[in-house]
Amino acid sequence: MVNKISSEPVQYRKDGTVAVITINNPPVNALAKHVRMAIADYLEAAANDHLTLAVVICGNGRNLCGGADIREFNTPDRQVRPMTRDLMNLIEAMHIPVVAAIHGPTLGGGLELALGCHYRVAHRDARLGLPEVLRGVVPGAGGTQRLPRLVGFRTAVEMITSGTPVDGAKALEIGLVDQVTEDDDVCAEAIRYAEDLIAGAVGLRVVSEMTIDMDADTGAAVVAEMRAKLEKSARGMEAPFRCLESVANTLTMSFADGWAREAEISAEAVASVESRSLVHAFFAERQVSKIPDIPADTPRRSIERTAIVGAGTMGGGIAMSFANAGMPVTLIDSGKSALDRGIARIRDNYAATRDRGRLSAEDMDARMGLITGAVGIAAVADADLIIEAVFEEMDIKQSIFRELDGLARDGAILATNTSTLDVDAIAAVTGRPGDVLGLHFFSPANVMTLLEIVRAEKTEKDVIATVLDLAGRIGKTGVVVGVSDGFVGNRMLAPYFRQCDFLVEEGALPQDVDRVIEEFGFRMGPFRVSDMAGLDISWAIEKRRAETRPADERFSPLLERICEKGRFGQKTGAGWYRYEGRAAVPDPEVEVLIAARSDEMGLTRRDISDDEIRQRCIYQLINEGAKILEEGLAIRASDIDVVWLNGYGFPRRRGGPMFYADMVGLPEIVATMDRYHGEWGDKWEPAALLRELADAGSSFKDWDAGRTA
Ligand code: NAD
Repeated sequence: MVNKISSEPVQYRKDGTVAVITINNPPVNALAKHVRMAIADYLEAAANDHLTLAVVICGNGRNLCGGADIREFNTPDRQVRPMTRDLMNLIEAMHIPVVAAIHGPTLGGGLELALGCHYRVAHRDARLGLPEVLRGVVPGAGGTQRLPRLVGFRTAVEMITSGTPVDGAKALEIGLVDQVTEDDDVCAEAIRYAEDLIAGAVGLRVVSEMTIDMDADTGAAVVAEMRAKLEKSARGMEAPFRCLESVANTLTMSFADGWAREAEISAEAVASVESRSLVHAFFAERQVSKIPDIPADTPRRSIERTAIVGAGTMGGGIAMSFANAGMPVTLIDSGKSALDRGIARIRDNYAATRDRGRLSAEDMDARMGLITGAVGIAAVADADLIIEAVFEEMDIKQSIFRELDGLARDGAILATNTSTLDVDAIAAVTGRPGDVLGLHFFSPANVMTLLEIVRAEKTEKDVIATVLDLAGRIGKTGVVVGVSDGFVGNRMLAPYFRQCDFLVEEGALPQDVDRVIEEFGFRMGPFRVSDMAGLDISWAIEKRRAETRPADERFSPLLERICEKGRFGQKTGAGWYRYEGRAAVPDPEVEVLIAARSDEMGLTRRDISDDEIRQRCIYQLINEGAKILEEGLAIRASDIDVVWLNGYGFPRRRGGPMFYADMVGLPEIVATMDRYHGEWGDKWEPAALLRELADAGSSFKDWDAGRTA
């Protein structure tokens, strides 16, 4: 056995008559230029060595190969030959069998590399898939042409248009791999497999030469069926349809033609706004936990036991989030009946999930077992983290924090789940404001992934670092924000909802606004959302705001008038709409109220274009986002995007409100706002930062880069 062990990014050795090419390019064995070139050289060496009868390609570390190197995107290195897609053809053209040894996440270009091999051996726990669609692109290295030939047309269409990976066992079942092993040394298993091929004189299986398992007519019917499905599930998206088109080409084109067309479709996708937005969202979510003045190696506090004060809607949902993550939690309320109600609500919630077949009875018991109920705040004594979720009143919260100060152990983190109150004022009543912060969960807290981590004036850095980690442990995306009414998300929501009301007063109907916003890509328009959340809640907030509203500020009393009719939304069967079951139906009674309001204001109702509706709603979001950045309440524009993607259903394919602004172009937004400002005055003055960036021909992305450089 000749071994050549080194730190080279690709290693080559002989194991008897088998040549072993090992990719050794941490962290994910990406196909960087030098990796591709070395693989090509070693393939040639193996082909020219008459004592080599088979080749195995494997990967060091945690996977076979992570695909194309993202660091090479938009650089000339990407074009250096062999390009990624050529490499698979070089492998296929070998005159001796090439076997891929697959372990770990072998996705995208990594799986395409394996598809170029003649045979595949995988670890049972490997993950194999073509998730390009999730980044708005199309597998571009032969994946759309080889996968259907290997696993069948329908299976390939489903895998490629959804991006869903399979494990090794499933891969064997669908014919994606030839052998599965539980041996952690997949490379050794692949060598044995290659030796068997040699011994049995088994020939090459060239995937590109295999025939599709479907005739053109049957295939066309499958394509039509899938297109109809995607029109529902991927409405407004481009990439799933591009993927479908490319796979469908296998029905009518030769491999060479389909492969060439795949490159064109892939290039179009890479250049699309959709792909740029999805890639932005991906990096924004990675970036969000990096806090400029908090080093990555800041020591964390240990969080094992959590106590939640207040067993209401939020307290219960938060407790479930911890239990779902396998963490013990004590749920506290002031009275036995409130506590019992809270625990019963949690049990009902789990039972509903169990009854839908999404949670086993054992798992439900295990989770309930992690939640301990307690009456009285003294039960916080042994907790590492205490989250207060009682009524939204400053006096009550401050008195609880005074008590916590006396009861909590030294070093415990004290958090409030307030949605509107001043966290600094809450921290100030304790003798340990450095341990205090806001943890703003969203409702339902066991479902929603967004967590606004409110950094108060005195919050210690290690507290922020600790809760950022904790957010990940309980399956949340934590975004660090500053103290402000509504923090980031809800503060931006207020001017957006205001515009919706004004649009209705001027001539639109709730269903018009909802349709435009849903076409933009939100799952639900603002009026349907309000009906679902309960108009009584918005009404209560409005009443509170009315106390501080300047006398000359324009506002709409429509919400109040609807509520006065007892229409609180879905739960009362009527709100902005009338409900037939869960279906929202436009209601003439609401239209009468709206028309009366327009009359009262002396407005002649007019047709409002979809463009105007979209601009007035979304530009208000963007403008408030810019103010939030000016005030230093969010670290990056991309953090605001993460808030809106995870907490408010902003369409991912548009990257978030601030990235969308960049795509529209800031000068265009400012010009439109200036026009609206001339027309309505009011809140249409563009934020100083927005105007400054627009004048400088800059973008929010540039602004972010300037701050983290
Ligand atoms: P809720 O009325 O459902 O629950 C409050 C619970 O606190 C009740 O069970 C009550 O008995 C208990 N409680 C009151 N005083 C207490 C005390 N001294 N000691 C122990 N328990 C006490 O309210 P909620 O909707 O769960 O809201 C709780 C907090 O979460 C509020 O600050 C609210 O602003 C915030 N929040 C709510 C939402 C939401 O959508 N509901 C979203 C984010 C944040």
